[in-house]
Amino acid sequence: MSDRVSCGALRAGDERRAVELDGWVNRRRDHGGLIFVDLRDHEGITQVVFDPQHPSFAEAEHLRNEDVLRVSGSVRRRPAGTENPRLATGDVEVAVEALEILNRSLVPPFHVNVDEDADENLRLEYRYLDLRRPRMQRNLRVRHRIVKAMRDFFDSRNFLEIETPMMIKSTPEGARDYLVPSRLYPGSFYALPQSPQLLKQILMIAGFGKYMQIARCMRDEDQRADRLVEFTQLDVELSFCTEEDVMETMESCMRYVWREALDVEVPPFVRMTHQEAIARFGLDKPDLRFGLELADVSGIFAGTEFGVFRSAIERGGAIVALRYPGGAGLSRREFDALTETAKQFGGKGMVWIALSGDGHKSSAARFLTDANVEAVRRAAAAQTGDALLLFADSAELAHAVAGKMRNEVGERCGLRDPNAFAFAWVTGFPYLEADEETGKPIPAHHPFTAPAPGDWELIDRDPMRMRAQHYDMVLNGYELGSGSIRIHKADEQRKIFEMLGLTPQQVQDRFGFFVRALDYGAPPHGGMALGIDRIVMIACAEENLREVTAFPKNQVARDLMMDAPAPVPEQLVRDLHLRIAGHDRPSSSV
Ligand code: ASP
Repeated sequence: MSDRVSCGALRAGDERRAVELDGWVNRRRDHGGLIFVDLRDHEGITQVVFDPQHPSFAEAEHLRNEDVLRVSGSVRRRPAGTENPRLATGDVEVAVEALEILNRSLVPPFHVNVDEDADENLRLEYRYLDLRRPRMQRNLRVRHRIVKAMRDFFDSRNFLEIETPMMIKSTPEGARDYLVPSRLYPGSFYALPQSPQLLKQILMIAGFGKYMQIARCMRDEDQRADRLVEFTQLDVELSFCTEEDVMETMESCMRYVWREALDVEVPPFVRMTHQEAIARFGLDKPDLRFGLELADVSGIFAGTEFGVFRSAIERGGAIVALRYPGGAGLSRREFDALTETAKQFGGKGMVWIALSGDGHKSSAARFLTDANVEAVRRAAAAQTGDALLLFADSAELAHAVAGKMRNEVGERCGLRDPNAFAFAWVTGFPYLEADEETGKPIPAHHPFTAPAPGDWELIDRDPMRMRAQHYDMVLNGYELGSGSIRIHKADEQRKIFEMLGLTPQQVQDRFGFFVRALDYGAPPHGGMALGIDRIVMIACAEENLREVTAFPKNQVARDLMMDAPAPVPEQLVRDLHLRIAGHDRPSSSV
């Protein structure tokens, strides 16, 4: 009798064991009259060897990559000098005594046994092959471990995981809803959740006190490398809590996850206000793996003759300086390219100063006095050999562009170590911000967020100055998620809706159920949600969320493997009381 073992199990101590293994042909080599097959399963790779004397040798000659085999045989030490230290099983091999071919494979459209680059759309179309590759196997294992650690953490703190429905009424999170037409109620639609926000708040009203969920969310947005239309959140809510309680809970969770799942000790998170983050790093999600803090050098140029700087200052804007370590050696052309990058980030231009040993060069040399340069150098803590990059604009834009350029410089200087993890809290956000497209004020978080204590009085006078009880968790320049203390009184919630321009009728139609629930003894509560895909992406040192998601849509929101979205038979559309406008509707008879 032989023992069933996985392809990752065998070691030198297993010599002479009779074993049976199942797996895929990772690679076949014909060498010195023998045939070697690397047999692979989800646990590892074992080398199996076919001897020419053996009856299965002829069959083994025709084995191809990704064929599925069952082999049995005996374990032996590899001959001295042929061990493979890169494989856990690399000291041994299995001398095959019986071979069963369980299935054949066509030739895969890309290499499965190495992580070489292949066209992403092809990878997504043949995702089952792509997922067999070592990188994807590793990433999804890390993902499993992270999610398990999250569940374990919250379980140990007496949180309940409660599932909320997938077909609900719209919950605004600032994106477009995916809608599901109702067959039974013509003209009515369910919305797929952008988040379980209202339901988790209602669970607090329902007396559960501590809720968590690994929640699937859907937002009909344009896909980007750092955004998926369908994603997973660690969703959390607590009753009778302060901002401090939520932040302590979430920070402890992440430190636990990093320890348990990644074996990394994370120090207590850095904290800063939104205002401080913008002033020092230009962005509200600063990458704190490196310094390169920005300096507001507007004061140095008060009264300057230089038109670009003068007009920024006269309009109440700012001049922001960034140090580029070692940047003095860049050529003019390289500085020009950097200026183009700044323009792509929304800037109008960039002034550079190269601090070489024999003085300085600059794109605005005519207007800069030595004293100016020396003052900027000091403000930005630059040294000989560095360059200084200056951005003049409205204060907001100058900081934003400088902040993005700081990340760019950090990248070029190798300061963004993918194996370093710099967590931070950003707090004290403004309650409102201007919508990117319409310019209208919208909540910086969502309309269920409570204003900072004492800021209610600004609501009629100066709402843009209101601050929110809202906090963001940031890691390596990414926002992992946001949370807030919520409004728990119906009249206050109505007041916020009113400030946002909703009529009482609109409030009733969209949120009537929720405002009513607040009226039945809603406890003070707050919570947060973190993007699991993003967390796993950073933990795996990947740059694209699709690399840590089993079956993602591609950049244009298509599932290339299933070929979705897809037309459906006319009758189904009619059953849903829908008619497709236009004549070029793709039709399906299936
Ligand atoms: N629902 C929020 C979001 O998805 C998170 C929260 O406030 O708990 O961003």
